[in-house]
This record gives sequence, structure tokens and C-alpha cells, in this order.
Amino acid sequence: SYILAIETSCDETSVAVIKNGKEILSNIVASQIETHKRFGGVVPEVASRKHVETITVTIEEAVEESGIALTDLSAIAVTMGPGLVGALLVGVVAAKSLALALDLPLIGTHHIAGHIYANQLVHEMEYPCLALVVSGGHTELVLMEREGVFQVIGRTRDDAVGEAYDKVARALQFPYPGGPHVDRLAQEAEGAVELPRAWLEPGSYDFSFSGLKSAVLNVINQTKMRNENLDFSKVARGFQESVIDVLTEKSIRAAKEYGVKQLVLCGGVAANRGLREALTARCDKEGLPLLIPPFSLCSDNAAMIGAAAYLKWKRGEITTQEIKGEPTLSLEAWSVQS
Ligand code: ATP
Ligand code: MG
Ligand code: FE
Repeated sequence: SYILAIETSCDETSVAVIKNGKEILSNIVASQIETHKRFGGVVPEVASRKHVETITVTIEEAVEESGIALTDLSAIAVTMGPGLVGALLVGVVAAKSLALALDLPLIGTHHIAGHIYANQLVHEMEYPCLALVVSGGHTELVLMEREGVFQVIGRTRDDAVGEAYDKVARALQFPYPGGPHVDRLAQEAEGAVELPRAWLEPGSYDFSFSGLKSAVLNVINQTKMRNENLDFSKVARGFQESVIDVLTEKSIRAAKEYGVKQLVLCGGVAANRGLREALTARCDKEGLPLLIPPFSLCSDNAAMIGAAAYLKWKRGEITTQEIKGEPTLSLEAWSVQS
């Protein structure tokens, strides 16, 4: 099968062609980061307009690079949520038009299922498995008893990890998106500022990062008021250590409780070097297999959407032309039916 997948949920316009749910024939990602940088974050209206400008050439490029003809395609997949409503709309409309024109089935796909199944493009996922989803808008522990069936056992109660990274980065005067800058600075640090860890109630798999973010802002403001020098790298390291400790500890505890065969890391923050190293070391020690996507498949891309859509395509679970962008689409509700 050949699935053409479209992703426009946030600030990347991306189109991919995926063979048999596994092989990436093309995966074009047109990032809008340079456009949004001067605003310090993603501006929804600007994002929609950029998607409109870029979507057609991105589709053409992805088809061209894949080396297959439009008439060879088996299905069109598109991210229908969650994400920015106006941004989602652009991808959904493009996908519907293509599906209609080519008389192909349409598969409305969940963005976070995409992040998780990015792993299936390079690894063999085994069940039950547990996914740690860390991205710009989500921080979740997702249990999958079998392929394509999602159960969220923990989630953030306030900021997502990526969001916290971006806010801390901003306070440390880095441009948007600041996650990679904080990561780099943390690696360079000699020593760390001591910061709190939000464990929440015993046994809870939920997360909270807004208190940590406030603690960072306090440290910055207090040293400023006292006219003292602050080593930003030690702040970055302290922040990163707190985040990694909590993410690692809760993931391992949940993996043990549910007796999973694998831990699967995914989402934009899965590119974080500190997190990749810490989880790898801890999983080695516990004898728990850990899957991590290559850097190129951590941030938003359409290949991962094609991989998730394949789960539904092979079960014949296709969507009607009626789909629309759903900013708050539920992951659990998107689970496969059979
Ligand atoms: P969602 O997937 O929840 O809808 P999103 O698609 O906007 O949100 P992603 O593209 O998956 O998010 O991830 C982007 C986030 O990842 C940004 O917040 C960015 O700062 C963060 N990020 C990227 N690289 C790193 C890194 N090395 N360390 C920490 N954070 C990082
Ligand atoms: Mg993005
Ligand atoms: Fe994402």
C-alpha cells in the first residue's frame, strides 16, 4: 500500500508517502519557525496562512520525491486533531480534495498517535507497551495493551514539557522554540541550581511543570534584584534534571506496574539529549527495552501520520468525507475498532 499523509496541526507543513506502513518514500517538512520566531511563539492566524501558501508545493514535492504516481496511491491520511483549528483545516481540506479527485479512501488521523507510531517506522513495537509522549502541547503516559488501542494513564495537569522548556528558554533570553537551547546549555553546565520536583500524590502518573517553571523565574528575578550574577547554564541544568527525574521515575514505575514489554519515547522533546541518555541508562539497568525515534522523526512530520493511519487502513477503518479539524480530538477515542 502507498499512503500519502498530510500534517498541518501546528507550525510545520508536512507531506509524506509511506509504503506498507513502514517505508518512508518521502517526508517533506516545511517549517514555519523562522516566521514565528519574531513573535516569540506560534501565531495561529499566521500559521494557517502559511499552510495555505505551502501545502500545494509540499504535496507536489512529496509525490515527486516518492517516485510513485498519484494513481498508485492507496489512501490519503491527514491529521484531524488535536492542534490549531485553522491550521488543521488547511490539511483536512487538501486531503479531502485529493481523496475526492483520486477516488481514494480518507483516513483522519490523531497527531499523538502519529508521534507514538513514528517509532514503528524504524523499530518493531511489541505489546503491551507504554509510550511516554513529550511534546509542545502534551505530556502523557499512554498504555497500549495491543496495537492501536490507547489508554492514557497519566497526563500533565498544567504545562506540557515542551511548553515549560520554551517558557524557561524565553526567560533565559533564547529565541523560540527554546527547548534545544536549554538542552545544549544544560549539557555544558558545571553544576546545577537545585529546583523542586513535582511528584504529586503517591501513585499518580500525572505530571505538573508550572511550579518548576515558576521556581526558575523566581531564581532569575531574585538574583537580578540582588544584582548578583547568575550562571544560566546551571539554571538550565537544574531545570532539565528536575524534568528528567520525574519523567524517568514515573515511566519506569508505570512500565513495571503494567508489565509492559517496551517503553516508547516520542514527541518533540524526545529530541532532548539529556532525556534520551537518562532514559537509556535507566532502562538498561531495569532490563526494559526502550524505543526512541531518530531526531528527524521526533518533531512534527507527516511520515508519522502515515504510520498511524496505516493501523486503520489495514483494518479497513476509513473515514468519510465528513471529517473536520478537531482541536481537542481524544486519543483514546481514536483507537482502532478491531
Ligand atoms: P503537540 O505534538 O503536543 O501537538 P507540537 O506538535 O507543537 O505539540 P512538537 O513539534 O512535537 O510539539 O514538539 C515541539 C516542542 O519540542 C517544542 O516545545 C520544542 O521546544 C521542544 N523541543 C524540541 N527539541 C528539544 C530539545 N532538544 N529539548 C527540549 N525540548 C525540545
Ligand atoms: Mg512544531
Ligand atoms: Fe507534535
